[in-house]
Amino acid sequence: MTQRTAFTLTVSPKIPERLHRLEELANNLWYSWDRATRALFSRLDPHLWEIVGHSPKAFLRRVNESDLLKASKDLTFLSHYNSVLSAYDSYHSEPSRYQPIKDLNPRDQVAYFCFEFGFHESLPVYSGGLGILAGDHCKAASDLNLPFVAVGLLYRQGYFTQTIDEQGNQQSHYYDSDFEDLPIKPVLNDDGSEIRTSIQLPGRTVIIKIWRAQIGHVNLYLLDTDLPENSENDRLVTHQLYGGNKTMRIEQEIVLGIGGVAALDTMGIKPTIWHSNEGHAAFMMLARALKLVRQGLDFASAMEAVAACTIFTTHTAVPAGHDHFPEDMMHHYFRDIYSELKLSPEEFMTLGHTPQCNDFNMTALAIRMSRMQNGVSRIHRDVSANICSYMWPQIEPEENPIGYVTNGVHVPTFLAQEWIDLFDRQLGPQWRTTQHDPEFWAKIHDIPDHIFWSIRQSLKSQMFHGIRTRLTEQNIRNHGSEAHLDRLLKFADPLKPNILTLGFARRFATYKRATLLLRDLDRLRKLLLNPERPVVLIFAGKAHPADQPGQELIRRIYHIANMPEFRGHILLVEGYDLRLARRLVSGVDIWLNNPIYPLEASGTSGMKAGINGTLNLSILDGWWGEGHDGKNGWGIKPVSENMEASLRDAEEGRSLYEILQDQVIPLYYDHGKSGYSVEWVNMAKHSMASLLPQYSTRRMVGEYIQKYYTLASQQGAGYSQDNFAIAKNVSAWKARINTAWNGVSSRRLDIPCEHLEFGHTLHFKVAVKLNGLQPTDVIVELLLARQHKKIRLNEFQHFKLEYTGTIGSQEHQFELKHQPELCGKQQYYLRVYPYHPLLTHPLEMGKMIWL
Ligand SMILES: *Cc1c(COP(=O)(O)O)cnc(C)c1O
Repeated sequence: MTQRTAFTLTVSPKIPERLHRLEELANNLWYSWDRATRALFSRLDPHLWEIVGHSPKAFLRRVNESDLLKASKDLTFLSHYNSVLSAYDSYHSEPSRYQPIKDLNPRDQVAYFCFEFGFHESLPVYSGGLGILAGDHCKAASDLNLPFVAVGLLYRQGYFTQTIDEQGNQQSHYYDSDFEDLPIKPVLNDDGSEIRTSIQLPGRTVIIKIWRAQIGHVNLYLLDTDLPENSENDRLVTHQLYGGNKTMRIEQEIVLGIGGVAALDTMGIKPTIWHSNEGHAAFMMLARALKLVRQGLDFASAMEAVAACTIFTTHTAVPAGHDHFPEDMMHHYFRDIYSELKLSPEEFMTLGHTPQCNDFNMTALAIRMSRMQNGVSRIHRDVSANICSYMWPQIEPEENPIGYVTNGVHVPTFLAQEWIDLFDRQLGPQWRTTQHDPEFWAKIHDIPDHIFWSIRQSLKSQMFHGIRTRLTEQNIRNHGSEAHLDRLLKFADPLKPNILTLGFARRFATYKRATLLLRDLDRLRKLLLNPERPVVLIFAGKAHPADQPGQELIRRIYHIANMPEFRGHILLVEGYDLRLARRLVSGVDIWLNNPIYPLEASGTSGMKAGINGTLNLSILDGWWGEGHDGKNGWGIKPVSENMEASLRDAEEGRSLYEILQDQVIPLYYDHGKSGYSVEWVNMAKHSMASLLPQYSTRRMVGEYIQKYYTLASQQGAGYSQDNFAIAKNVSAWKARINTAWNGVSSRRLDIPCEHLEFGHTLHFKVAVKLNGLQPTDVIVELLLARQHKKIRLNEFQHFKLEYTGTIGSQEHQFELKHQPELCGKQQYYLRVYPYHPLLTHPLEMGKMIWL
């Protein structure tokens, strides 16, 4: 054989002058929610558009010059192009219309850190819910024109691509991205050279390249260590999302947290509000404290200054889901940092300490170094408050500082185009700006039923079409016969969409119990196979490559889907990503979710379904615990948490079968003369109207601004004034309390009165031994409420006792005269806790004495 060399050559198309702004459109993730922009690219060459996986940037590098030239002279194309540009330009020139932003200072800027971001399938640096939520947060920040930058990692290989083989085994594939195909650009210095920043890892400097992705008004900075200047190992640090071992993970988190702060510094960006989305990014708080210590502040005051303007959001509902690192690993990576912080090794380790284990816990660090912490639904708030109650050991979890902001989804991204067009026509374009107003959405009921129904059917057809394509590919790869494929796709027929279709798509984590509905095959048979009222079940999702039980779920579904009787009724679609998610949530009739309560922190896919008129059938956990109003879908009440797991599955599985059999299926197939179920349409309309205004990131980001960002802004500014006077003041006060508190005690001086006639006054007297503290350092308080069985601390009214003088040399007396307003049996408590008006949360010290 003769020797030959394969030379490669890339020819870049030349964009005609008339269309030169296509480049700009391809470089702004605005297209991730503006479908008209995506349609513009696809129109140039629909086949190529599919090949490049819907990436406008990759598309523009490959499109035929002749197609571009033709388009530049095609009047319909140009009119589409102009209308896209006009929408793009008006979006980018609009000032904020949103009131709470006016409560921020003009110099305020939020820095939002997250381990993953999901905007669109063309930027594959996400794995699932957390990343997509972060992406949606950025999109809503852009819509509101909030001053906001985001920081993340640029993964060369991202999360894995999934295929499923002919035995139902998940195969994971990692592909290198060509960064030139991604909607990102290197950040440049004034002289046009690329900006670099760096971090120290033990014995070496790691260089970081900074890339920028533009999301409308918002910039996302992505950090990349895959550079020739770095060692082979360091280059791999930013390769895989959730890949590698603990060493890889800690190095990734150091790059994100410490490298992220360095990157913002290098670019001259000065955030005033810092938000760590999950604990992966918590090292950013240490990096910021280190900067202040370098300026001469002591660590304790630096920590107060950092924490005062830091928000931490936790997303997990199991302690094992919180990242933690062994002690020796922490010493290895942080020795230089803690000596510079002037902390002893023990003091440093205390920052990540939890009572459960000696490891350094990232959630513990994040809570200690932030003053605003939240879970992502009402139920998850309580779960997190319990998991993290050790942070405030003397405070009842129901009262501790953890709050909640329920997640949302970015409506323009997940609402199908058909609905957008319909709303424009039927409700007028103002629906876009009144999106958060529940009253406005009552108008959905004015939409004629048959129009509403036909849109639902058409979305289902499109979904069937999409999954047929995927299943066909899957079948060819797995050497399946055509006859097999025909049987498989028998019910997923775009021409016959009037078949009840259930969707279940999310990570295959065991707590989500993907196979709950498949527990009892006899009942399943009765549900799915009735020829009068057939049902189709569609499954999709990835299991982490190291999660064997998760992969077992996939095999189990595959196995049942291939049993001859179920063939065609159960479909398992591979490669769950944003694109498939958008299709499924808008196309199926029922969105199913049945996690083990209370482990679903929020869940967001059900919101995406709900806003598209898909009805939720879910365990009342996470967001559905507050979203379900009894008429907008179906809720399964979880049985007791103490019940043994298999009994729980049996009980909740039975409820699921019953609801499907007695309610869902009869309602769907209650076709009147019109050929569809009027009641179903009613319920779907109500689902949309009740969920769309509430479960949007528009509402969510608004809530973050109102609850946390404005507070962080005020505190951040206050704490740093006059050479950090307040930070020093607060840290000195806390030190004083920590030293004295063990010697503080109290006793009641008045004799408790058990009966009283209305109109009479009670006189409470408490003596407190302050152990050197001042009377102003504590609050002595009466809590009073009407008695009932399940009384919660937040139901009590609070009354403060006033300091009235000393008793002897040791004790201080506090008194309150109180005339009860209520009659009947009441319950009350007296308590003492340390208090300073500059605290973010009154119970922040975690100390409390109950009398
Ligand atoms: C919305 C979404 C998720 C989150 O789904 P949950 O059911 O909330 O866990 C995961 N993956 C993709 C691709 C999504 O679009």
